[in-house]
Amino acid sequence: MERKLKTPKLTHCGIIANYQCTAACRHCLYACSPARSPGYISRKTAREIGRLLRAGGCEAVHIGGGEPFLDFDGLLSLISEVHRAGIGLEYIETNAYWIEEEAQTKLERLLEAGGTTLCISIDPFHAEYVPYSYPLRLQDLCEQTGMKYFLWQSRFIPALTNLDPLKTHTWAELGNRGEIAQRYGIHWGGRAVNIEEEYAPRGNIILDASPCSGLLSTGPFHADLLGNFIPPGCTGLRLPLAEAVEGVSAGKYPVFGALYFRGIRGLLDLAGDFVPAPGGYPSKCNLCFHLRRHLADQGFPELDKEYYEAALAYW
Ligand code: SF4
Ligand code: SF4
Repeated sequence: MERKLKTPKLTHCGIIANYQCTAACRHCLYACSPARSPGYISRKTAREIGRLLRAGGCEAVHIGGGEPFLDFDGLLSLISEVHRAGIGLEYIETNAYWIEEEAQTKLERLLEAGGTTLCISIDPFHAEYVPYSYPLRLQDLCEQTGMKYFLWQSRFIPALTNLDPLKTHTWAELGNRGEIAQRYGIHWGGRAVNIEEEYAPRGNIILDASPCSGLLSTGPFHADLLGNFIPPGCTGLRLPLAEAVEGVSAGKYPVFGALYFRGIRGLLDLAGDFVPAPGGYPSKCNLCFHLRRHLADQGFPELDKEYYEAALAYW
């Protein structure tokens, strides 16, 4: 009988409406940027994701990207499909780039559609691409229209107020991004692998064969516009959501299976001709990123080649 990997319990899901974004933040876990493919989640895929999440017992989602406001009508469709599936919509993430593009009308239409809360990004990483007056203006507009919101992360506002609110800023102005990343509580995936490599000491990684069973854990995971399941924390890996819910065949996804059963040791064995960096790596997950990037050229379906290229691109 075919061996199946344990399926995750679907708790909280983030729906990735798109990977394209107006910004290319250096901490972005999904390596989003203006250069990513411009696709947006279709109504059909949103409906299928809603069905699968509902079947798996997921009670609440948030919507993010990329920048979900890049296709406002698409966002309204996605919201209606979440409601149609009977799943709660907790909030919609945005970097507020659209504050000068009929923002009041958009907020009113969002409220009509049942989008009641925004998670508005404000921190030094975003300030490199979006003037920090934008999220603050969006906050004011939310107050006026009755849209609920929270600023993520508002504790950085006092440091930003020393800078011109109408401009974007360089890192020479923003500070030490290694220290800011620590304060932020960054997860070292996506484009943040570069920050970890800049600031964390490198060394030899213990190549143990402990399974990375967190790949199918109950933690908050994501479902993307292509109907993929993205494991919590391990971005750059993907499985069809339907298979993640109904059972993953152990032999169908060699990279995933290697990590799931034998962890980093299993992945290194799979990578064969991979040549490690002479100075080592700052963490096991950083080595995992580079092994998967190496393997992404070999056509494994669970590896998204575009993600690895975008993660290493600074703008
Ligand atoms: S963190 Fe948000 S705003 Fe920044 S690049 Fe990623 S998706 Fe875009
Ligand atoms: S080693 Fe890889 S699979 Fe395991 S937790 Fe880290 S990123 Fe995820």
